[in-house]
Amino acid sequence: MHKKRPQELTPADATIARLRDELYQARRTILDLMPGDIREILTSYYHCETSKATYTWDDEVAAALIDLAKPLPNAAPGSIPNRAYCPLCQRGSSSPYAEGFALTEGLRRHLLGWGDVQRCDVMDAAIALARESWRRRFEAADAAEAAKEREQKEQRKRTENLYRLGPNEDPLLIDESVGYGRAARDPTQLMWAEQRLSALGFQVVAEGRIKSYTQSDKGFVVYADPRAEGEISFRVYWMPQPKKFGRRYAQFSLKDAWKHDLVTKYKTRLVAALSQQ
Ligand SMILES: [Zn+2]
Repeated sequence: MHKKRPQELTPADATIARLRDELYQARRTILDLMPGDIREILTSYYHCETSKATYTWDDEVAAALIDLAKPLPNAAPGSIPNRAYCPLCQRGSSSPYAEGFALTEGLRRHLLGWGDVQRCDVMDAAIALARESWRRRFEAADAAEAAKEREQKEQRKRTENLYRLGPNEDPLLIDESVGYGRAARDPTQLMWAEQRLSALGFQVVAEGRIKSYTQSDKGFVVYADPRAEGEISFRVYWMPQPKKFGRRYAQFSLKDAWKHDLVTKYKTRLVAALSQQ
C-alpha cells in the first residue's frame, strides 16, 4: 500500500496521528498508575511471542487479577467472604444493595465485559494496548503465514483427488471444511465408505481427479460426502435448482457405527429431507 510521506500529511491526518499518540499515552498513564504487581500483569501482553499465544491472554489476566482481589470482610457471620471490589478501578457492581462484585463470576464479567456489563475502564485500556502491540508485531508474520497456507492449499489442489459435494460446488480436498475437530478418512477407510455408498445405490463419478458420489431420481439428486471419519453426510439438491432465494439443499447423515437396515435408514432420512423444500 502507498504510504504518505510525513510532508504529505493532510491537517486531518496530522490531527488523527496526534490524537492516536495522545490516546496511547493516556492508556499508558492509566497502567502506570496501577501498583507494581498489577501493572506487571496488565503489561504482560508484551511477553506474547506469537499471535497464537495471545488467544488466551484476556482470560489469564482476568484470572490473575481475581486472585489479587481482596474479599470484603463484611459477609454474613460464618459465611465465606464472596464479594470484592475491582482491584483495578476499585469499583463495585451498580446494585445499591451489594458492595463490590460477586467472586468470581461477577468480577470476571466486570473485567472482561459481558452482555450488558460494561468492561472495566482500566482493563479496557490494557486490552487496547495489548491489541495494538500485537497488531504491530504480528501483522506481517500472520499475513505471511496465511499466504503460505493458501499457497500450500493451491498446490495440493493441483495434484490431489478432489471431491464435489453439489452440482455447482467447487471441488474440495479430502480434509477441506470437514468440520471442526473431524479428521479425513485414510484410503482404506475411504474405500469402506465408498462400498457403503454403492450398497445404498450411489454411483461414483470420476472426472479426472474430481470424484463425486451421487444418487438421482425424478426431481432431485443426492451428493454424498464420505470424506470425514465417523459418518457419511448427504446433501439433497432439488432439480431443477430453485431460483436465487430458494434453499440450496437439505442434508442428513448416516453414522459409520450403524450396521442394520441401512437402506431403510437412508430412505427415511431422504424422504424427510425432501419434505423440507
Ligand atoms: Zn474495574
